[in-house]
Amino acid sequence: MSQFLVDIALPVPLDHTFTYIASPDLSVRLQRGVRVLVPFGRKILTGVVVGFPASTSVKGLKPVKDVLESRPTFSEDLLKLTRWISEYYIAPWGEVLKAATPQGTSVESKKTIRLTVDDIEECLKETRKKSKVQHALLLALQDGNSLTISQLQKKTGRKGIHGVLDQMVNRGWISVEELIDKPRVRPKLETVVRLNAEAGNLAVHGSGVQLSKRQEVLVQAIGEHSTDIAQALPVNEFLRIAHASLSSLKALEKKGLVLLSKREVMRTSEYETLEQPADIVLNDDQAKAVASITESLEQGTYKTFLLLGVTGSGKTQVYIEAIRKVLSMGKTVVVLVPEISLTPQTVRRFKAHFHDDVAVMHSQMSAGERYDAWRRAHDGKVKIIIGPRSAIFAPLEKIGLIVIDEEHEASYKQFDSVPRYNARDVAVVRAAQSNAVVILGSATPSVESYYNALNGKYQLLELPQRADNARLPSVVVVDMKKERKRVYEEIKLSVQKTKGVFPKHLPQLSISGLLRDQIAQRLEKKEAVILLQNRRGFSHVVECFECGHVETCDNCDVALTFHKTKKHLRCHYCGFVKKAPNVCPKCNCVELRFYAFGTQQVHGELGSLFPGATVARMDKDTTTHKGAHDKILQRFGSGGAEILLGTQMVAKGLDFPRVTLVGVISADTQMLLPDFRASEQTFQLLTQVAGRAGRSTLSGEVIIQTLQPDHYSLKHVVLHDYRG
Ligand code: ADP
Ligand code: ZN
Repeated sequence: MSQFLVDIALPVPLDHTFTYIASPDLSVRLQRGVRVLVPFGRKILTGVVVGFPASTSVKGLKPVKDVLESRPTFSEDLLKLTRWISEYYIAPWGEVLKAATPQGTSVESKKTIRLTVDDIEECLKETRKKSKVQHALLLALQDGNSLTISQLQKKTGRKGIHGVLDQMVNRGWISVEELIDKPRVRPKLETVVRLNAEAGNLAVHGSGVQLSKRQEVLVQAIGEHSTDIAQALPVNEFLRIAHASLSSLKALEKKGLVLLSKREVMRTSEYETLEQPADIVLNDDQAKAVASITESLEQGTYKTFLLLGVTGSGKTQVYIEAIRKVLSMGKTVVVLVPEISLTPQTVRRFKAHFHDDVAVMHSQMSAGERYDAWRRAHDGKVKIIIGPRSAIFAPLEKIGLIVIDEEHEASYKQFDSVPRYNARDVAVVRAAQSNAVVILGSATPSVESYYNALNGKYQLLELPQRADNARLPSVVVVDMKKERKRVYEEIKLSVQKTKGVFPKHLPQLSISGLLRDQIAQRLEKKEAVILLQNRRGFSHVVECFECGHVETCDNCDVALTFHKTKKHLRCHYCGFVKKAPNVCPKCNCVELRFYAFGTQQVHGELGSLFPGATVARMDKDTTTHKGAHDKILQRFGSGGAEILLGTQMVAKGLDFPRVTLVGVISADTQMLLPDFRASEQTFQLLTQVAGRAGRSTLSGEVIIQTLQPDHYSLKHVVLHDYRG
């Protein structure tokens, strides 16, 4: 008899798919892109159906256990795209598909452990002295519950328990089972109330069923709302309006007069508030860009544009006009923004124009909220998805446009898990596969994209002017070597004068005289200041306090990283290692510092310099709470703080007219990163943050502090010279 064969991609680190057989009742529900449950080794996994082979040479095929859905999670387009990613980034297809699935919706079995021995006291006695680990495990399982391995590890505080568990299984003390968990994230349900149409009418027209006056009023009230489940009132809302209790509804339900039933609800995030769009007439450059994009959209063929526009040149407005065009053609849009600039400010701007056509996916949303945004796209209920890199997998049909804002951003590349894709490049491929248009926008495009534009692979569009006629800010570089030398001399002098001892710890000195004076001026004028201290500079660098010399790799010319435990310096590129010096190799000064000061230290320093000023700090530590980011910005925007101090988060997409001064505490933290893109990224970051100054009629000023004032990256920032 012929078997029904099905090929399934599974999230396991193997570079092929797996063939299973399907029983007749399941096989009718199988189609490409549908998720299924299958046994794999001793586990049960969620996989995706990718094909139906006619035959196989594999013996002993296992059966598909269940089909999880009637509509495929993955369209043919997404199967094709994920297949490409799998090949290009050398990642198992099943793992790519898993990365493209809403988090928490896959089912997977877990090993669970349960006590099976009758006389636990005996075992406890035996193991008390002989095996501490077994003893601890027995205690953890004592109350008879099944626990997973990781729960056991947590409860006992021990990691390596696998071997011990095997021994305990052999002695018959415990058993190990594979249990299937429910998916962590599921559609949310609410209870709604409506009239049981027939019974309700009868009751109201006095037919047999005995009702109190109060009950009659309630039935009447319910009857005023729809009997259609999609329109029915949620129970909670009804109870509030009718001043009734749940038990009174239950009583009516018992009499068969009303129906209480479950209905799916969509979870939305707090970002989704509306405001009025600004009335904007495009300037000539913007209009030209929109015209080129529109032409391609009308042709309906693939094309990528690189929109190179200085900060504040109105790139976002160009995206909005292009999106409007796409929607009018009945197509859909993906907008990628870097995680850190996915601020409510950005989102509200799109919402203001496109209202409920927009859904947002954001890592600070709960898994449920993200799943619902995904479902709204999957159901065709929204036409625009805005999100960070993973939004490139949005389940939209008929994609017409993909926008990638700040296309140079490193956060589009997934570094930490499989597949290690770059969403910008995947976007270009997705667009090519669906005959869509891509807009890559940036004030400082990546070198790769700019190169692609120069050689004609992409089409370059330029917005050379700020949209609101604001001038680009003036940029000043402060040589912190000189600054430090001055402080060092002062200390030396005072030590000589007082015949004291040289202080063991030199003062933290992250704010130069010039920056201090400028901040003071703004505070006086009630203008606002943004300070950037990139905490990624936390990798420890050895720096000479006197001459500013930094130890670099002999081979690669990148800064060496100090490793405390081994007391050596290491190149994170080539592995070159050398002993950490005791004196500066350049000036023989003994005041070497192994430094890494972050926002917290600078915050302290600001507190003592400007005791009257309020400083809002924005970094990973202060933005872990949902909505914290938004709150900090709103406080700063409304004048609740004069100074905003933060990591690169403060560099992106913020638009506050009150800001007239931007200070960069140390340009070096980025420039000295052991990364061949360090100079490029320094230019990008500093240009970005500089763009935050003077975004209105007030003119802006930027002060960049550095130990390498002659670095070519800084020279071009000062000149606002991207091409250079
Ligand atoms: P970018 O995305 O390039 O940084 P934005 O689109 O945020 O620039 O525009 C910067 C500011 O200029 C915003 O406040 C925006 O409302 C305004 N703006 C954009 N286009 C115009 C225009 N044509 N006329 C007047 N103001 C504009
Ligand atoms: Zn090296």
